[in-house]
Amino acid sequence: MSAAGLLLAALVQPVAMPSAVPAGLVGRCRFDTVALSFAGSPAEQAQCLMRPLGKRGVLGKELARLPRGLSVVLKRGTALPTREVVERVLASEGVDIGGLDGPVSRANDGEATAPLARYFVIHDTSTPYYGDEPFPADVDGDARVNDFAPYFPVGADPEKYPVAHLFLNRQGVVKVGQPLSRPWRATKLETRVIGLPAKGLFLHVETVAPRRRDPSIAGWNDAIAPRPGFSQRQYERLALLYVAASARAGGWLIPAQHGTMDHGLEQAHDDPQNFELKRFDRALRKLLRRLRER
Ligand SMILES: [Zn+2]
Repeated sequence: MSAAGLLLAALVQPVAMPSAVPAGLVGRCRFDTVALSFAGSPAEQAQCLMRPLGKRGVLGKELARLPRGLSVVLKRGTALPTREVVERVLASEGVDIGGLDGPVSRANDGEATAPLARYFVIHDTSTPYYGDEPFPADVDGDARVNDFAPYFPVGADPEKYPVAHLFLNRQGVVKVGQPLSRPWRATKLETRVIGLPAKGLFLHVETVAPRRRDPSIAGWNDAIAPRPGFSQRQYERLALLYVAASARAGGWLIPAQHGTMDHGLEQAHDDPQNFELKRFDRALRKLLRRLRER
């Protein structure tokens, strides 16, 4: 999501889409509109979808391999921790994602026989927007940066807002935007290309990161994101959300980034910016060790 993206999401949600799209492979990671899957094994899909995203959505170097933690869960098929164990960790951390016993959404707008959600899509909120002002000195601790209010506008259309299932601020606080059982779309690939069959296949997580204008680019833009992109607490909590959402889905979800999903599409988003997969993976490995010990 970007600042303009918040508005765009509101504009694209109501667009009527056909319930069936022509068969084919779309996007950089070749989404198969019939199989409702990107190309390759879960590990190969993650390798494509987690490729680093540069400024303005330019793709970084291809990943030679998945980092160890993701490789272990997606390649070797490590068993999911039980819901009971994950629930205990969530409780001890004070994180509530709406429980682990409920269902996750199903594709094709929740059709009973459609596949369950299988992708965990990472976004950055690109909010608040600082324009030509500098970021706050303590971007991780700043009250305005960490405020959830912009994402939960009072009196907003519930069909449009909040724009994602889960929100995660830089202090690690998690807030449910949409229930994980609700089919919800938040990328151009889903709304503009795949259409209704995609609705429910993806779970969306917005991680809070501000933006500012890059003066070397003419006109309005929100091209500059903080460096580092995310706080340590966000990586730790994002790893927990990934495991918890997978536990609720009953299988390891495939992580994806908004920008890589949409790459090549018109007005593709550039988020998450400065996301460090290694740091996420380190947090995931640490969490998996902790879960095993329980
Ligand atoms: Zn996004």
